[in-house]
Amino acid sequence: MYPTKPILGFLLLGLIFLSCRPMKKQADLILLNGNIHTVDAQLSLASAMAVRDGMILATGTDQHILQHFSAEQVLDLQGDFVYPGFYDAHCHFFGYATTIKTMADLREAGSPAEMLQLLKSHDSLSSPAWLCGRGWDQNKWKEKQFPSKDMVDAAFPDKPVVLIRIDGHAVLANTAAIRALGLREDNIERPDQALYKNASFTGIFLEETADLFKAAIPVADREFLVKCLLDAEQECFSYGLTTVADAGLEQWKIKLIDSLQQDNVLRMQMYAMLEASEDNLLFMKNRKILKTQSLLVRAVKMYADGALGSRGACLLQAYEDQPGHFGIIVTPPEKLRDICKQAYDNGYQVCTHCIGDSAVRMVLGVYKAFLKPGNEKRWRIEHAQCVDEADFELFGKYNIIPSIQSTHATSDMHWAEQRLGSERIKNAYAYRKLLQQNGWLPNGTDFPIEQINPLLTFYAAFSRRDANGYPAEGFQIDQAFSRQQALQSITIWAAKACFEDDIKGSLEKGKRADFVIMEEDLLTEPLPHIPVLKVKATYLGGKCVFSLTR
Ligand SMILES: [Zn+2]
Repeated sequence: MYPTKPILGFLLLGLIFLSCRPMKKQADLILLNGNIHTVDAQLSLASAMAVRDGMILATGTDQHILQHFSAEQVLDLQGDFVYPGFYDAHCHFFGYATTIKTMADLREAGSPAEMLQLLKSHDSLSSPAWLCGRGWDQNKWKEKQFPSKDMVDAAFPDKPVVLIRIDGHAVLANTAAIRALGLREDNIERPDQALYKNASFTGIFLEETADLFKAAIPVADREFLVKCLLDAEQECFSYGLTTVADAGLEQWKIKLIDSLQQDNVLRMQMYAMLEASEDNLLFMKNRKILKTQSLLVRAVKMYADGALGSRGACLLQAYEDQPGHFGIIVTPPEKLRDICKQAYDNGYQVCTHCIGDSAVRMVLGVYKAFLKPGNEKRWRIEHAQCVDEADFELFGKYNIIPSIQSTHATSDMHWAEQRLGSERIKNAYAYRKLLQQNGWLPNGTDFPIEQINPLLTFYAAFSRRDANGYPAEGFQIDQAFSRQQALQSITIWAAKACFEDDIKGSLEKGKRADFVIMEEDLLTEPLPHIPVLKVKATYLGGKCVFSLTR
């Protein structure tokens, strides 16, 4: 015979106990059994995370999450590592998407002859009305001399040809293209932006004059553009990128991105900087800050100088390898000041491209007239590649944000000293010194100038080596970040530089569930492995947008 009464009593007690326990909250997705690098303020590690409606409900231990949440979709991470979605603080997503398919890729050309060969095969494949290429770099060639239009003219006497240098700050145009623009030696507005030989054009044009050629290239139709954008988006997802800051767009491009996002065609999240044209400044005044679920427009982009590779970067002292040459100022200080004033009045961030120490000094000087110490304007200096010793402290004093690309250091290290000399190079690519100014800074790739892969950015930031491990001791290794800092620079600090750290950049309650799954721990993985690591899956708003095994 069974003692029924005590059992009934226990059951009743159990029911009362259960009914007192809080009900489990419904989630859409629970991640368990992982190593989640939350990148919160304490850099804490969690093993589980609950997600609902694209947002993070909680992170914690498996036990905690299972106690408080239930979900139909439970993902056992089996020890995999999770990171906040990678955030590229400075790139050219639209430019990459739309040029990579329409232009010949010249990045691998090892000589002018090879460049011509790549061009010919591109022409025979697609036969465009204007033949365009992107990515040549004379610093990779034996002679290290700019290419000339004569060679291109001989192959393409009638078809306009425009070849954009790797940094985007110079073009090589052939005679047909120069004619199409109506340019002659005697009617060019900025003679300092053309290279001449015996008073004739060589075909090399810099900065705004180069931009005239880029603007003349016929634009592809909408259908083709959309296809290009979607292809680029998928490529970015495959590298774990969930937000891109596009450093300089015209309005029509922003409108196209917005309409594609609204229609759920394009899922990539974007922080868009407006090119500082009259039209765009009007847009800024009329629309103020534009914010949607996937797009934030609240910055204006300017160029103070050119790039170091094409000797357009503006230096305080002459170039080491070109006596008497100081580089080019693209936007004079009065104009910078005027646009800064308009941006300030409209609550916009200002992001100004500065490579040379003279350009950096000029822009710091303009910014500080607007910025009080302790301000939260987050005005940025893009690249901040070469900074005079006396100017570093101004970044910290006026809360001016250096926006760096750590792979630029390891790409340029082969020739930068020739341009700058052995003394000035010490304060070039001095990213740790810049980091110390505000205690945080954003990192990016500037793709297509560098590769899209943010793991290369992460790797270059702490190793100061290229993907082949060169140099073994690291280039100016005293300027290296720690691995934690390198991870912060491509997540939370990048988001902060784009005013999105309240919603992105770390895996915390109330933030977007944008995250990356990998098999490896980026904080401990042996250094040589990092450049070849693959992202296993990328999630955007709690939804898988890329999976290696899919
Ligand atoms: Zn850029």
